[in-house]
Amino acid sequence: MTGAVEQSKSWFERAAAVTPGGVNSPVRAFAAVGGTPRFMVRGEGAYLWDADGNRYVDLVSSWGPMILGHAHPEVVEATRHAASSGLSFGTPTSGEVELAEEIARRVEPVQQVRLVNSGTEATMSAIRLARGFTGRSKIIKFAGCYHGHVDALLAQAGSGVATLGLPTSPGVTGAQAADTLVLPYNDLDAVREAFAENPDSIAAVITEAAAGNMGAVAPHEGFNAGLRDLAHENGALLIMDEVMTGFRVSEAGWYGLEGVAGDLYTFGKVMSGGLPAAAFGGRADVMERLAPTGPVYQAGTLSGNPVAVAAGLTTLRLAGESTYRALDGNSKRLGDLLGQALSAAGVAHTVSYAGNLVSVFFTDTPVRDYASAAASETWRFKPFFHALLEAGVYPPPSAFEAWFVNAAMDDAEFELIEAALPKAAQAAAAAEHP
Ligand code: PLP
Repeated sequence: MTGAVEQSKSWFERAAAVTPGGVNSPVRAFAAVGGTPRFMVRGEGAYLWDADGNRYVDLVSSWGPMILGHAHPEVVEATRHAASSGLSFGTPTSGEVELAEEIARRVEPVQQVRLVNSGTEATMSAIRLARGFTGRSKIIKFAGCYHGHVDALLAQAGSGVATLGLPTSPGVTGAQAADTLVLPYNDLDAVREAFAENPDSIAAVITEAAAGNMGAVAPHEGFNAGLRDLAHENGALLIMDEVMTGFRVSEAGWYGLEGVAGDLYTFGKVMSGGLPAAAFGGRADVMERLAPTGPVYQAGTLSGNPVAVAAGLTTLRLAGESTYRALDGNSKRLGDLLGQALSAAGVAHTVSYAGNLVSVFFTDTPVRDYASAAASETWRFKPFFHALLEAGVYPPPSAFEAWFVNAAMDDAEFELIEAALPKAAQAAAAAEHP
């Protein structure tokens, strides 16, 4: 059991005075679940410690990056070594080449890579490149998929946008939104119709390679292949957003599980080792349209930062077969425990997987898209979440997020989770529709 959270409370009050909502990324504010966001001061292996000294089994893993667990000694050492050699040069460095080579080695359709600082920058740049390459304006995205806070991609986005129930965001102009066609996930007929209704004007289809931002919802068999075929038949590009799935669900991300090649890819999270780094890449003939070889402009003062590159490259080099076996096993073990506890408490639920991304929906109707995810009994999540948190287990603070295991989890952590779940499941069972 965790104890007082007075320090977190006090920091949150100070934070709210100087930062909107007290946080630098909305989902961290606990808006959907209420209560005090925990201010973390330390992470090691499978655990986080908050400012009051409470310890948590971490099922968020910094929203994905920390597949090896927190403060992995070799990643910390590589980062320390890089930092002591200089924090940023604004010149090319050898580490950038090695990181790009490692990404291209893992994901076969990626021939060239450009490093950026966040997943948002990666998708923004990939969209611009697709528009520059095709000379077209419109893009297709799917409701409930989140691709970062790029203006054109915020329409009916998942993650925090879904958590806060926002249709899109003020500040996004009509023109930006008008070029975005939002379609239901896992619905190829809708994509076919959109291409028929917008001849020669769609630059790209962007999709999460497997959806993780409406909760984990895998693409139906043939969906991604159908997207590729429809895009190509209509002269458009397919952008596979693997910011969440990349280097987590397999050595080669979702591509490694399914083998459907996109024209462009976006990556972030795991390849950053927990520091700010991300990337986009893909077909050389498309990537070469980027400046300086081509006319599509894209740049970054800190892109390819040597410290971030060292953390990312070391993480990827350490993430081998045994890491992915551990991630898959831990995800299954977590999903089984969630399912058993909720069944025992008589709560209708679906444990949903997309590779080793896992989440729980409070419905026994299969979830295939954002509409079916949103139709679940999300109000049961709040008491479920808080019971786990109080027991020292830290799940994502939203019903629309995937749960991220890491390879540092072992029997001791699963025993804590197993012990915490019955009470949480009972709290979910007792929840009343607001
Ligand atoms: N794309 C996907 C699939 C994501 O899950 C996210 C973030 O969660 C992003 C893009 C944006 O990445 P970032 O938060 O680094 O900007």
